[in-house]
Amino acid sequence: MNIDQAMTVLKNKGYKHTDKRADMLKLFADQKRYLSAKDVLESLQDEYPGLSFDTIYRNLSLFSDLNILEATELDGEKRFRFSCATSEHHHHLICLDCGKTKHIHSCPMDSLDTMYPDFEVTGHKFEIYGKCEECRSE
Ligand SMILES: [Zn+2]
Ligand SMILES: [Zn+2]
Ligand SMILES: [Zn+2]
Repeated sequence: MNIDQAMTVLKNKGYKHTDKRADMLKLFADQKRYLSAKDVLESLQDEYPGLSFDTIYRNLSLFSDLNILEATELDGEKRFRFSCATSEHHHHLICLDCGKTKHIHSCPMDSLDTMYPDFEVTGHKFEIYGKCEECRSE
């Protein structure tokens, strides 16, 4: 997902193009990491002095409903990032310090699947948390 694709999704769903929405998406595109609503507010409040948490949350939920952003909870706080461009099944290593992610293409379900034959698995979530190389060397 990139800004243009995201804007097309919004337009197709009948949502207005606003500078605020475009700037929020640009922030996610630039940062390429998980951001909280607070991060978004801090980055945009100079440009939009009246910007409220409420507005940000509403837009972030909209973006994640439309699969523009994906959400997860880290340290008890909801964070968002641009949805991955690849449709290939994968999971993420997530740095808890900077929010950057790396793809891992092996899936733990592959080995678990056969262990519970009576349970019909319809989906799963798997994330690995830690410190990335950059944050470890600081
Ligand atoms: Zn991914
Ligand atoms: Zn990091
Ligand atoms: Zn998987």
